[in-house]
Amino acid sequence: MKIINNQKGYTTSIILLLLLIPLLLLLTITIDEYSHEVDNTVENLQTKKMKSTTQDFENEIATITKQTLHDTTLEVITRKQALTNSKKYIKDKIQSKIDTIEQKQRKNNINIECTVNEIKPADDPFKIEIHYTLHVTTNNSNSKIQKEENRHIEITDTKYPVYDPLPTLKTRATFTDSKVEYTDKLANYITINNSNAYLNSTQHVTIKKCPINDYSQHGNSNITIKNCLNNHYYHNSHDGLCLLCRLENRTTCEHYGFETFILPTEKFDKAPASIDHVLLNDQQGQYEGNNITIDNNTIIYLDNGHKIKYGL
Ligand SMILES: [Zn+2]
Ligand SMILES: [Zn+2]
Repeated sequence: MKIINNQKGYTTSIILLLLLIPLLLLLTITIDEYSHEVDNTVENLQTKKMKSTTQDFENEIATITKQTLHDTTLEVITRKQALTNSKKYIKDKIQSKIDTIEQKQRKNNINIECTVNEIKPADDPFKIEIHYTLHVTTNNSNSKIQKEENRHIEITDTKYPVYDPLPTLKTRATFTDSKVEYTDKLANYITINNSNAYLNSTQHVTIKKCPINDYSQHGNSNITIKNCLNNHYYHNSHDGLCLLCRLENRTTCEHYGFETFILPTEKFDKAPASIDHVLLNDQQGQYEGNNITIDNNTIIYLDNGHKIKYGL
């Protein structure tokens, strides 16, 4: 107060005030920046949390899809009842499982909305394509994630075995312990000569992809072809049905599918060809093949086309 009383003091206080203004301004800016930085850190943390939650969620979608394919094929094969619309059936099942995990995330202040738009055969018959839309928001910040995703999920993960339902659907044979015991059912289903070649045959129906990339190498040695037959591998095929069409008990399929060998039990010169889509075709589509002896205990019957394909 004393300063203001004289002229000199008055000037000093003005100078002090003028000096104080930039200092105050600087302080305000610093505080503002500091709080901004805190805000940014919170925002960053939220974004990071959201990103990692979304990543986990998407991994979960892949697992759910595999689990659903395992459950569905097992269900169809056990009940011996085909699905009328396998794409829709699987899509709805996956969606309802996804809805349950969405609920869990809500407790973490992260809202995930995921819609499964489509399930369809992939170009690779050992994969299924899933198309979904994701919308992720959080209660504590403005960040959000919005995306559409097309993913190819493998059906050959040994943790979630997927079973081929066609043998039981076509012949009504019984499935036990990952294989189908045909008894007389396949022989009775076949309408061409020497159907008895398949009396009491057994087919393992877990879908496993043959590791040989160049199929013509199967004939390189008896060991190679025997290894394929003993492991009941499946192969890419234009004529074979895809998994989704197999679940509907179809005879033809417009997608790229797979095929496997069904091992005969009796020896003839000629008998119905040992390819699943030939034997399990509608009865007009069956055709015969020539005996190919692999060793004392193993023979198969193949037509020319399949003989060339597998280099036998
Ligand atoms: Zn093979
Ligand atoms: Zn198909």
